[in-house]
Amino acid sequence: MSRLMGLYAQHLSAGVAPPAVDEETLARQVEQAANVLARADAVVCGIGSGMSTACGYDHYGRSAVFDGRFAKFERVHGFSSLMDGLYHLYASNEERWGFLAAYSAHLEAAPVGRAYRQLARLLEGKEYFVLTTNIDGQVRRAFPGENVWLFQGDFGFLQCGQPCCDELVPALPVARAMLDAMGDGIAAPSDLLPRCPHCGWLRAPWVRDHGFLEGDAWRDGKRRYERFVSDALASGGRVVFLELGVGGMTPSIIEIPFWEMTRTNSNAFYLRVNMGKASEPRQLEGRSLTVTGDIADVFDMLTHQREKKEQDA
Ligand SMILES: [Zn+2]
Repeated sequence: MSRLMGLYAQHLSAGVAPPAVDEETLARQVEQAANVLARADAVVCGIGSGMSTACGYDHYGRSAVFDGRFAKFERVHGFSSLMDGLYHLYASNEERWGFLAAYSAHLEAAPVGRAYRQLARLLEGKEYFVLTTNIDGQVRRAFPGENVWLFQGDFGFLQCGQPCCDELVPALPVARAMLDAMGDGIAAPSDLLPRCPHCGWLRAPWVRDHGFLEGDAWRDGKRRYERFVSDALASGGRVVFLELGVGGMTPSIIEIPFWEMTRTNSNAFYLRVNMGKASEPRQLEGRSLTVTGDIADVFDMLTHQREKKEQDA
């Protein structure tokens, strides 16, 4: 572990926000990235919150969506972003679930974002796996379930709050029933609060928290991910670790393992797209690239490059 943290510490000391790159540099980086992806035999994607932000889904700041659909919650509770609403200390379970129901229905109604659809298209015909820390359901809906590990869970499911059992149920029907009953109100009716049928405790969104359920579904995702990565690396083919929009909150899930697996496998390449990052650890030199740009723009350019390659072929 100390070696991993060493890599990370060295990276942190490299400086904070990188300068914006000029168009020419960005185009060169994207061309390199397109070549790396074209040659890849397997792609391991790690997706963080920046990917959903690039699709216009902002859970962390005040947004037009928040002002439109969630203003009634702000008037009563005072918070001004969806994440603040998620972690707000409500006076009652009915008020808490009033917001959770609205948030849950909002996430499920949001179309799969353009960057996710573009990525799915870019990965077509390749062996790939997607690991994500996002809980907004975008990865779940954009890619086949067998290619995905939802590390932090997914807001689209509910678990027992304790948890006493290994049960996940879809959140949307529960949310819809509460919203129908609430009308313009902000609190869910007591008799509609979701309860575990086995122990009677309130259910909770299946997202990382104390009591997060790492049950069959989660462990199955972990097994499939680990098998995919070890098979890909052992095959001797070219493996690209593609990191997209990963912030600084949880480096131990995607960023550091991707660095470490690239460092220790000569057939691996670390490719990152991130607006706020510019450099990689020097141990990866020659087998790493950061494209410093907005994911949506970069995917537009990559898609264009791919189409050009297909026409030339
Ligand atoms: Zn229970």
